[in-house]
Amino acid sequence: MTHKKIAMQHDKKIALVAHDNKKRDLVEWAKYNRTLLAHHTIYATGTTGSILEQELGFKITKLQSGPLGGDQQIGAKIADSEIDFLIFFWDPLEPQPHDPDVKALLRMAVVWNIPIACNRSSADFMISSPLMDGDYDRLVPDYEGYRTRMITAEK
Ligand code: PGA
Repeated sequence: MTHKKIAMQHDKKIALVAHDNKKRDLVEWAKYNRTLLAHHTIYATGTTGSILEQELGFKITKLQSGPLGGDQQIGAKIADSEIDFLIFFWDPLEPQPHDPDVKALLRMAVVWNIPIACNRSSADFMISSPLMDGDYDRLVPDYEGYRTRMITAEK
């Protein structure tokens, strides 16, 4: 399969999401990295976003709460190239009412080859990568072949 390049600018569009038992972890991580995060555009699911906005003191675009559709909104933005970076501290020890949405969001991140961190150490490595400070061409499979695949409606 051939690939297409999608440019990621210096200022990235970052989505931050944390399940309830992981919100403290994300807040601590975000406060520690506040200066690095401040010049990016930050999106978050509803509750995560409200807490982060209070703690960080800068504007965050808040979507619906995760179980009310926020994860799906972020997935849709990834598909539309409106979000290009995902920090998602999901809880491995507690079933979520929106488990299918969680899986769908992680799937979208892989389909569109955006960087994802699902725990603090990965987020640390990602945020401190030299690639954060420049433009980066993200390689995405050219899905044109998939879009134009032969499907016959005949029996
Ligand atoms: P919340 O959603 O930030 O609204 O709590 C997070 C999630 O469960 O995906």
